[in-house]
Amino acid sequence: MNEQTKILHSIPVDELTGAISTPIYQTSTYVQEAPGLNKGYDYARSNNPTRKVLEDLIAKLEGGSSGYAFASGLAAIDAVVKLLKSGDEIIAVDDIYGGAFRLFTQIYEKFGISVKYVDTTNAANVAAALSSKTKLIWLETPTNPTLKISDVKTIASIAQANNILLCVDNTFASPAAQKPIELGADLVVHSATKYLAGHSDLIAGLVVSKTKELGEKIKFIQNASGAILAPFDSWLVIRGIETLGLRVKQHSENAQKIAEFLQGQDIVKNVYYPGLSTHKNHKIASQQLKYFGGVISFDLKVDDKEFATQIVSNTRFFKLAESLGGVKSLICLPSEMTHKSIPREKRYQSGVTDSLIRLSVGLEDVSDLISDLKTALYSFNEFQIAHRNAFTA
Ligand SMILES: *Cc1c(COP(=O)(O)O)cnc(C)c1O
Repeated sequence: MNEQTKILHSIPVDELTGAISTPIYQTSTYVQEAPGLNKGYDYARSNNPTRKVLEDLIAKLEGGSSGYAFASGLAAIDAVVKLLKSGDEIIAVDDIYGGAFRLFTQIYEKFGISVKYVDTTNAANVAAALSSKTKLIWLETPTNPTLKISDVKTIASIAQANNILLCVDNTFASPAAQKPIELGADLVVHSATKYLAGHSDLIAGLVVSKTKELGEKIKFIQNASGAILAPFDSWLVIRGIETLGLRVKQHSENAQKIAEFLQGQDIVKNVYYPGLSTHKNHKIASQQLKYFGGVISFDLKVDDKEFATQIVSNTRFFKLAESLGGVKSLICLPSEMTHKSIPREKRYQSGVTDSLIRLSVGLEDVSDLISDLKTALYSFNEFQIAHRNAFTA
């Protein structure tokens, strides 16, 4: 059976009524027949049938044994870190999502969990950073915003040889494009806020574990800490997943064309998109990803914040906003938005220049998106005249 068919038909028909759409069980508790005698549900923090459908669905989609749904992507990340104890160490991708960096450094370091950040695009750096205290390797691939790719299979073999857990934040790729558990990861986390839900209408997080034993530990943490996903939001994520394959395919096709368009523009300096043969990690990206995704970043030959600000403020279809993965295109200026809290020098080391612009390419017609960008890139004659030397240099 083809994956898309398998996914659609693994969402169960409601046994009670035959409803083809998963019912939303909006309840806090369940009436018991006798003390302790129930139908498998006692309290809705512990279990909810709507949430359970989503949890089983994401486990199937990622090829894991169990899945758990959380109130946000960060709550999902938080649940994984709670597997550790004081004295343990994490080796993490240096381009890590800012919220995960904040969680690690400002919450968990004070509880005695330390984190080493390394450039994981070279697996040897991971091996070199290992110590007897390392208990978890944390990858994001592709990363935000310059879409660096790490070799999950090679890093998984390092993790396995040293009895260390490997967790992959699969938010940017989505399981339609990349399956970290098949590549050897023990855990996958998602900000389901992005591609899985896909419509910019909720905040949600997911954890999938390779083994049942690890899943039971996550389940314990989910119930003990309580950051569960609500039934209605669970239903929306299920609904989103039904079209995930179609959406990611189209997001990627649109993004490839836009990346190629941007590469041909004189005023553009670097275009970061793993589907371009010029991308630093294009080879491993081609092996690991079925689709290259909908996120593109690029910067300008005139590395000027004012110029970049004018561009991001003057698109019509690309809406100026943080986040990604929705059906409508978004544009943002990381240096002033998502990456503002990072010191300028450190930002520049990871390619986040003042003029770096990030696109989340949506599902509009790609020719409309390209003309939108063309207009925004070339309609600032006043600015360009004032900086004529730089433009003609
Ligand atoms: C957005 C995001 C998160 C955080 O998810 P929330 O749902 O916003 O809590 C984590 N990782 C990545 C890669 C993200 O893009």
